[in-house]
Amino acid sequence: MTDLSHVESWIFDLDNTLYAAECQLFAQIDVRMAAFIREHLSLDHDEARRLQKHYYVKYGTTMSGLMTEHNVCPDTFMEFVHDIDLGVVPENPSLALALTALPGRKFIYTNGSVRHAENVGQALGILHLFDEIFDIKAAGYAPKPMRESYELFLKSHGVDPTRAAMFEDLTQNLEAPHALGMTTVLVCSDAAWLADEPHDKRPARIGETAPHVHFATNDITAFLQNVRTAAPAA
Ligand SMILES: [Mg+2]
Repeated sequence: MTDLSHVESWIFDLDNTLYAAECQLFAQIDVRMAAFIREHLSLDHDEARRLQKHYYVKYGTTMSGLMTEHNVCPDTFMEFVHDIDLGVVPENPSLALALTALPGRKFIYTNGSVRHAENVGQALGILHLFDEIFDIKAAGYAPKPMRESYELFLKSHGVDPTRAAMFEDLTQNLEAPHALGMTTVLVCSDAAWLADEPHDKRPARIGETAPHVHFATNDITAFLQNVRTAAPAA
């Protein structure tokens, strides 16, 4: 068993972490982002795609680049890219049970919007198990992996990083949490459609790890089922 008995705050990334990357929900968002850039900046598909990935690498998220360089309204952008078919996300009662068993507070911490987190959380049947959703707006539009984003999260919710665990599919998004003293868990997948993502910025593959990763798993439910916690949830 993995001993996480020191953890009292459980912090989960949303996309490709709380649902398996293999269901390709994020692939839909990825396509919508390119479509938004194509329309908004009147570019052809290839140019739009290149710019999307350029901003993702340079600014942490595509949206952050669009806001900085093109004054794009974040709400307009997110409404467009999150207009997707949630039918590909199956309900996950095993994950719901595993989350229920965790003592302490549970958070969704996403570079997306509260509405997207609510939609996905509802589809999974786990939304009611979270105490708070910390989205990009709450982060003052400073995305993960920027350190100030995590600092704002910790401060906003009075979370002690040494008693917190962070779950993420992106290795880079665990660097700051590790530096801040959090326990880091990398959620890996084997989604072939992610192959064209910039090499060091794509969701972690099965077997991948990094010096700032304490634990890695390719099954978040199984991982949570096998952690030793402080005490059963009340
Ligand atoms: Mg993610």
